[in-house]
Amino acid sequence: MQTTPEENIGPERFYFGELGRGRFLIQRCEACSRAIFYPRTFCPHCGGETLNWFEPSGKGTVYATTSIFPAGDAEPYNVSIVDLDEGVRLMSRVVGVPSDAVSIGMRVSAHIEGSEEAAKLVFAIEQGN
Ligand SMILES: [Zn+2]
Repeated sequence: MQTTPEENIGPERFYFGELGRGRFLIQRCEACSRAIFYPRTFCPHCGGETLNWFEPSGKGTVYATTSIFPAGDAEPYNVSIVDLDEGVRLMSRVVGVPSDAVSIGMRVSAHIEGSEEAAKLVFAIEQGN
């Protein structure tokens, strides 16, 4: 059996550790070749146990979007569900534009905001939308 670096700490901690070092990684199942997110120990599609980490393109399409209005004077912020081109769906925020400027079908690309424990995966609208 192959030894992978996340075995000692679990896939979720490995994911966030890498994110804190500026690397966005997701998994791919060796048995069925499908991409996987959220980080897991077994493939949710076929039950395969060998999942390899790789760096996705980070490019995707907004599947759903909403604005959150915090209490007080804080600016509303965007929460979106994004389909990565690799075939996984994740929840994140589209930043750099007003929260209501985001719409379904927009092309977005991932980047990492902050570092270490504060690192967050967010998306920006791609040019040409
Ligand atoms: Zn699989």
